[in-house]
Amino acid sequence: MLYRRFGKTGLQLSVFSFGAMRFLASKENAIRTAQAAVDLGINHLETARGYGESEKFLGAALRAGLPRERVYITTKIPPQQDGSAMRRAIEESLSRLGIDRIDIFDLHGINNREQFDLGMGCLPAIRRAMDEGLIAHLGFSTHAPLDLLLETIATGEFESVNLHYYYFNQRNAPAIALAHQLDMGVFIISPTDKGGQLFNPPARLVELCAPYTPIAINHRFLLADPRIHTLSLGAAHPGEFAPHLAVADQGGPLSEGEKAILERLERQYQRVPSLCEQCYQCLPCPEDIHIPEVLRLRNLALGFEMNDFGRYRYAMFGNAGHWFPGRKANSCTDCGDCLPRCPVGLEIPALLKQTHALLYQGERKRLWGSSS
Ligand code: SF4
Ligand code: SF4
Repeated sequence: MLYRRFGKTGLQLSVFSFGAMRFLASKENAIRTAQAAVDLGINHLETARGYGESEKFLGAALRAGLPRERVYITTKIPPQQDGSAMRRAIEESLSRLGIDRIDIFDLHGINNREQFDLGMGCLPAIRRAMDEGLIAHLGFSTHAPLDLLLETIATGEFESVNLHYYYFNQRNAPAIALAHQLDMGVFIISPTDKGGQLFNPPARLVELCAPYTPIAINHRFLLADPRIHTLSLGAAHPGEFAPHLAVADQGGPLSEGEKAILERLERQYQRVPSLCEQCYQCLPCPEDIHIPEVLRLRNLALGFEMNDFGRYRYAMFGNAGHWFPGRKANSCTDCGDCLPRCPVGLEIPALLKQTHALLYQGERKRLWGSSS
């Protein structure tokens, strides 16, 4: 296992972090899974107030023998209405985890302007908790649009950021660059699941990535970038770490073989008919359709046969609040507002209809609802 300095926090974190959101089948399973992570060299355990019993189960794992002095614990709490509510929430998390200091405290879900404003309002209470030694370092997690993500980073208030950035979704590349410029720790949220459900890849993608696996190629794309420090693994049980470990000791530049695979993937992507270039110039849509994200799912389905992933994400439109904003593509009224804004002249309404027909299979909510 490699370790990297997590930006200005100065902490040396393992390049994989244990994301404790899916290990909840039982307390015993949680303890075994957290212990397996530590046995593999993972020293960063990441939970959230909103992940059901996760904080309590991590606390149980610590009481069962997980060496507190060898692990760093992150917990995440959403912005609260005021400082006293935030103070109570911090004390509750400390109590649930059974620890006297949170190593990294993340404001959870700075996803829109309202959450940003609430989060900024909580900073004095968080700073007081830091002065008292209850919190060592402050970061934030986000699913925000890029402009708000950049604005949050640029406040200079945070030492680290948890964000979405993967081979199959590089929209947040400017945020990686700005975080690096400000010497922030960079934590990648769920590279395997949110990064394309790469644990269950379509045959076409397997073929294109061979002799590597899609999981390994995505991990290597991320870890070959020294501005990125740690990737979350949300294992549900001890057996789920194995597919990731092949690259846990590989942090250097991409090999010639890996570069050749990425070039092959790029060539394939460029062949998608009516490829959406992800420039975001078509927004806003009066019907609140997240046109670029809908068409990104289309790109991936047509380019790499990632239809299952597309269905999984598409089903969340309209069901996940500010965590995954926008309505489904069948809300398009053909108003035509977006058409002159698309620099490559895509027939956006027709492509939206096609994508809805391709990916709509029903509704789906986020694992932890819309408030966590
Ligand atoms: S044509 Fe459809 S997608 Fe484009 S702006 Fe109008 S409603 Fe939105
Ligand atoms: S303007 Fe066109 S290319 Fe750009 S994101 Fe929108 S649909 Fe895609």
